[in-house]
Amino acid sequence: MNAQQDHRLCDACGEDRLVPFADLGEIPVLCGVHWEAHGDAVASPVGRMELAACPRCAYVRNVAFEPEKLVYDTTMDTNLHFSPAFQKFSAELVESLNDRYDLAGKLVLDIGCGQGEFLRELVHVSGGRGVGYDAMYAGVEGEQDGATFHAEFAPRGSGLPAYDFFTSRHWFEHIDDPYEFLVDLREQANGREVFGYVEVPDAVYDLATAGWEVIYPHVSYFDAYSLAMIFSRAGWTVESTGTLFSGMFRYIEVSANRPRSQGHAAYTGELPSLRARDKQLAAIAGFAERHHAERQRWRDTIARLDAEGAKPVLWGAGSRGVQFLTLADRELALAGVVDLNPRKWGRFLPVTGHRVEPPSTLTTLQPKAVIITNPAYREEIGKSLADLGVTAEILVA
Ligand SMILES: [Zn+2]
Repeated sequence: MNAQQDHRLCDACGEDRLVPFADLGEIPVLCGVHWEAHGDAVASPVGRMELAACPRCAYVRNVAFEPEKLVYDTTMDTNLHFSPAFQKFSAELVESLNDRYDLAGKLVLDIGCGQGEFLRELVHVSGGRGVGYDAMYAGVEGEQDGATFHAEFAPRGSGLPAYDFFTSRHWFEHIDDPYEFLVDLREQANGREVFGYVEVPDAVYDLATAGWEVIYPHVSYFDAYSLAMIFSRAGWTVESTGTLFSGMFRYIEVSANRPRSQGHAAYTGELPSLRARDKQLAAIAGFAERHHAERQRWRDTIARLDAEGAKPVLWGAGSRGVQFLTLADRELALAGVVDLNPRKWGRFLPVTGHRVEPPSTLTTLQPKAVIITNPAYREEIGKSLADLGVTAEILVA
């Protein structure tokens, strides 16, 4: 049998088959979950991560992804809102979207709304109405302050309210059938003029660096080219795309059923350049070797710091932190793991079983090295360490 026949057709461009380029082995499935019992944490499920790329559009996907392994529910905690840096970024985004899209009186869907912080703020600032969907939403369902929340996935086929605008932040990359999702969302607009804002991790960043953001819940990895490609193929008009948050996130703004006669200047109708795509294809080609080298380098670095008595700790037990621990500290050589989120304190992380402590424990521990996996939080963490009376070198993994 021809091996090529086994390869999945590209979700983004639909024109070529995905070619495997890096097998990361088995990694935690529930990287955003933390356990009360150590035994439950280390026995938590793992899944295989085998990255494959489209040679035509640079779309990347975990072709070993098994959707039935990953059940989203209210025990999951992927909340980024405990960070002041992320809150500030979100607040600025609310202002920007409201200024440009004039959302007063409009109906906004937030698909993958998390705990609803962003939608509540958007509705509050704009005077619009909001409907949020997320199987991980653990708050009160029903309407409050202009926003209605559903603790479930956004309905397919029909059942969405007559929306004017949709937002989806850090959810699109989790979907097993991203192309079908986009087609359905456009069809449910029923010919109305609608706009949308989607934010995902930027695959240029993820795949050009060590790859700590290559986590099981992320099925797809988009750069500018493949993100524009999948929206275009699904019948959306790409209005703009760019990076945010120190280059770690990528946004795309899209429209459907927009009357051409209005001659909006913002629309260029051009996909990101082939040069950007080629650069991403080069990053993909070097990923497996780079990823392996980074894993080894961090294992060696932690061992050296430990031997020097520097008591290295990891600050940040989010999904990136969990992936870092899985790949670089299986031996539990770190002196500790801390996180700002009180829901994680005293609990254990998946597979490796590291226990999460509050940052205040660092005052006693006095580590000389603090490892972070997210450069966007460097300044914020530096200030917190100063407040705690800790003098430590911050190392960005
Ligand atoms: Zn493709």
